Amino acid sequence: MISDTHVHSYFSPDSRSDPEDNIKKAIENGQKNIILTDHYDHGVKCGKSDYNFDTAERNRVIGSLREKYEKQIRIITGIEIGQQPLADIIESGKKKLAEYDYDYVIGSTHLIDGLDPYAQEYFEGKTMKEAYTGLLETLIANANMWDNYDTLGHFDYTTRYAPYENRGLKYKDFPDLIDTLFRTIISKDVALELNTKTASRVSIDPDIWKRYRELGGELVTMGSDAHRPEMVGYMFKEFGELLKECGFDSVYIFINRKPVGEKID
Ligand SMILES: [Zn+2]
Ligand SMILES: [Zn+2]
Repeated sequence: MISDTHVHSYFSPDSRSDPEDNIKKAIENGQKNIILTDHYDHGVKCGKSDYNFDTAERNRVIGSLREKYEKQIRIITGIEIGQQPLADIIESGKKKLAEYDYDYVIGSTHLIDGLDPYAQEYFEGKTMKEAYTGLLETLIANANMWDNYDTLGHFDYTTRYAPYENRGLKYKDFPDLIDTLFRTIISKDVALELNTKTASRVSIDPDIWKRYRELGGELVTMGSDAHRPEMVGYMFKEFGELLKECGFDSVYIFINRKPVGEKID
């Protein structure tokens, strides 16, 4: 099975998963690699906890698991950095990344105008068109302002929590904004993540993926965004098929910040 590139553990404040259980699940799935990507979101709280982790402690735990499972799976150390179009947030992201040579960096937009769509306030008084225009404009601002990341994580995160009927993001409703976003990441060699957590909850529009391909987008990563071990590799088969239908033969993992293709089986 395709390798999972987006997995959380108790080093993320919103997950209690033991990283070892995530690894065991990936092995059970037949995945050759797993990329562990805990959160760093500067200044954002989960209850009383920061979206941050102790880099040295996390590396120690991952290092010992890597030794233990080296014959069964490649364990890759990544990170998910929360992006906002603000200079101090960008600076803090740089500092976090300077603590370790990560193999893989996901750049994710969780907040729009300082609000997490998960909490619903972002949607108050907005039509779906307005809410998603705000999302796409923020994604474009982040794509322009941020460097040093390998994939655009769950660009459709906002749709997961949107209160609208038929809340999937559709290419035909925002062709110019989506084109601008894709052109920007493609020009920076940043990949596009198919996030199966979003895709399993909100119908995804194949036209978005076809358009990304059409514009020259080749780098696609697949991530479960698992916060529980049983979700590692969730629906990879189904969404692998969808990617094939949209013109992709391979997805990518990253090792030492370089894309490595994996054929979709
Ligand atoms: Zn995320
Ligand atoms: Zn995540």
